[in-house]
Amino acid sequence: MARPPAVELRRRNRAAMLEQLHRHGPQTRAELTEALGLNRSTIATIASDLAESGHLQETTGRSTGSAGRPSTLVECVPKALAVAAIEIRADRVRFALIGLGGEVLERAEAALEAGAAAPEVAAAAAGLVGPSGAEAVAAVPGLVDAGTVAHSTELGWTDRDVAADLAAATGREWRVVDTATAAAVGEWSRGDAHEATKLLYLHGGRGLTAGLVVEGRAQRGGSIQLGHIVVEPNGRECACGLRGCLEAEMEAFGYAEDIEDATVAAGMGDAAARDALRRSGEDLGRALGAVVTATGPDEILFGGWLRELYLSAAAPVRSALAGTTLPHLRSRLRLRTPVLGDEGALTGAAETGFAALIDQMR
Ligand SMILES: [Zn+2]
Repeated sequence: MARPPAVELRRRNRAAMLEQLHRHGPQTRAELTEALGLNRSTIATIASDLAESGHLQETTGRSTGSAGRPSTLVECVPKALAVAAIEIRADRVRFALIGLGGEVLERAEAALEAGAAAPEVAAAAAGLVGPSGAEAVAAVPGLVDAGTVAHSTELGWTDRDVAADLAAATGREWRVVDTATAAAVGEWSRGDAHEATKLLYLHGGRGLTAGLVVEGRAQRGGSIQLGHIVVEPNGRECACGLRGCLEAEMEAFGYAEDIEDATVAAGMGDAAARDALRRSGEDLGRALGAVVTATGPDEILFGGWLRELYLSAAAPVRSALAGTTLPHLRSRLRLRTPVLGDEGALTGAAETGFAALIDQMR
């Protein structure tokens, strides 16, 4: 049965206020009035609603204006609503319980045996997570769709229903996003990429993946297998069965340290190292040309060890991208490095959970 319009409106306003405080931190009622475009009495009603439900509290905070009178701040209660986030890597599972407003309430990690199968990884996750958190979200490196990892070079998994593995081990439901998409959501919500409408995040781990988010939201189909875009039709054989995949061509640069070593060597006049960096930059730029043409992002972030490659070989990346992308797609494109570093994927996994929780309140 449809809810009456007034009830509907009140729910929507509550969700909007909670989202505003969650994303932007403590604010005065006057600031909320302006940000949400609601009148003062509505703000007061909604704030006391949310205080009653335990989601927010009012505190005497910073002083404002020349009078120096402390103003009352409205802020989230972190423990009122939390999301359990995990990030699965080849060698470990990391867990964070993140509260409303973005505060990290708990943190833990467990080491994994090399080549651990999905049920073992899920069991390790279960040991960390427990029952806390209103939503549980996992970030997994690879091509992910609707809870299933279609392919992960890093984990060696193919067509694995990771959501089901995690549910069986923990007795609760899970959302699964790929690591690159999670990091993109993290950089958009808690980093400095919030101006990007379509944000493409490139993740360099033991495989190369990418995630496209629109207005900071994970999209079904936004998980991209960057590493298996063919850049050399007669190139090296790839583990996936194709030839000349980006991942196979860039094999020599599996880790950030390799890039750093090559950069140092190139700087000291090592021609082979300089050539290798340039070639890898060009291969990456060409693969990106295909992704940019297909998806039309306005910002690209180079994450994981691709950050080091981009910092060492920005010119070849840019020129190869320029040679493979339409000018109108290129002109508005910003290329940058992420600011959250290693925390991006966990942060973004949690934000994906919060987006779902706040949507449910509307
Ligand atoms: Zn491949």
